[in-house]
Amino acid sequence: VGEGGEITYKKIQSSQIMGSIQLGIQHAIGGLASKPERDLLMQDFMTVETTNFPSEGSNHTPAHHYSEFKFKTYAPIAFRYFRDLFGIQPDDFLMSMCSAPLRELSNPGASGSIFYLTNDDEFIIKTVQHKEGEFLQKLLPGYYLNLDQNPRTLLPKFFGLYCYQCNSKNVRLVAMNNILPSSVKLHQKYDLKGSTYKRKASKSERVKNSPTYKDLDFMEHHTEGIFLEADTYTALIKTMQRDCRVLESFKIMDYSLLVGIHNLDEAQREKTEARKRNDSHSDDEDGDKKGLNRTRSEQSQDEFKAQVKRTQSINRQRLVAHSTAMESIQAESEPIDEEEDVPPGGIPARNARGERLLLFIGIIDILQSYRLRKKLEHTWKSMIHDGDTVSVHRPSFYAQRFLDFMAKTVFKKIPSLDLPEIKGNH
Ligand code: ATP
Ligand code: CA
Ligand code: CA
Repeated sequence: VGEGGEITYKKIQSSQIMGSIQLGIQHAIGGLASKPERDLLMQDFMTVETTNFPSEGSNHTPAHHYSEFKFKTYAPIAFRYFRDLFGIQPDDFLMSMCSAPLRELSNPGASGSIFYLTNDDEFIIKTVQHKEGEFLQKLLPGYYLNLDQNPRTLLPKFFGLYCYQCNSKNVRLVAMNNILPSSVKLHQKYDLKGSTYKRKASKSERVKNSPTYKDLDFMEHHTEGIFLEADTYTALIKTMQRDCRVLESFKIMDYSLLVGIHNLDEAQREKTEARKRNDSHSDDEDGDKKGLNRTRSEQSQDEFKAQVKRTQSINRQRLVAHSTAMESIQAESEPIDEEEDVPPGGIPARNARGERLLLFIGIIDILQSYRLRKKLEHTWKSMIHDGDTVSVHRPSFYAQRFLDFMAKTVFKKIPSLDLPEIKGNH
């Protein structure tokens, strides 16, 4: 956070970064239209296109109110091919990225990266370090060899790599799929690695509106784990095994499984509570309670807008093919008809109390390669704690521990979600 409370990244105002990258991406996608579709060549992974954006505009670029900047697009033809692989039309990508202001996520990691979410909830843009950007570039041919063979994966789907340059500062950005829907309340969120060393959400994280908890918190909240139907469990673990094999082959580690939990029964209770509260309070009290000096009509106007937005994003199938959790693990389930205002593709599950859950999951933060990692980052203490003393084997150790944790501690297999002791239809 910079002076005056504005969020900054490398001393550049976040709002300026957002606006500028939208101009840059718009230009990059527009420019692709003149390049006919063709098979990918190896050199397509290495190309970089650079465009200048002077404030007063130029022959190719519009005038704008931001500082003059340069915008680099990495491997534009290759990323077009990948977007195509996931069914993303150029116009749709352009609409998602550029037609409405981006939203900044308030729940970033410790690395200081900034996350932007597109207004339609489809894409996330994350700032990455120089090393990570370079690594993604090197990764591209092999990574997509894999995706081409198997687009059903929980691995992140990368749709673009860019660099915004301003005042001799570089801001590298990756565009990828958004795992957590913002139209539905996630009652709990976890970032899980399978390690227990320092894997507890910090105090400052826990007081947040929607904190992201870690491994130790999960074990405390869900001592018996989360229950999945046998077929779903098997599909999920198989997918994670395949994904981890790919990550290990690239010597990648430190990735996490991001798990968002929507609790259908809790949501039901919240709804009933809210209705009760509305019935028993007069309008004035309601306004006072919220501590806002707004009129009733202003409030209902806001509610209405929020409702419209929610419906818009729910009524539409996801833009990115195979991107929901259920599609990613190639599992199927009955749609949940009683709860229509829930985005499609969550994995049905139960907690130990028998409550119906929907899980939104994906593997994130895969651009740390062991080969590139700073030596200091990993302390002796954590190596001893994790029992991971043979450094050459670290990526395989990491993958094995990750899988073990998911298959044994986080997810549990039960014959059916509708067993008598776990009541109700899912
Ligand atoms: P660190 O390296 O310190 O772990 P980071 O800056 O690399 O942090 P990530 O681990 O990639 O950040 O992500 C941080 C948080 O951002 C996640 O816990 C999650 O809440 C959110 N997030 C990241 N990627 C996604 C995604 N694809 N979809 C939805 N949320 C995401
Ligand atoms: Ca991380
Ligand atoms: Ca990281």
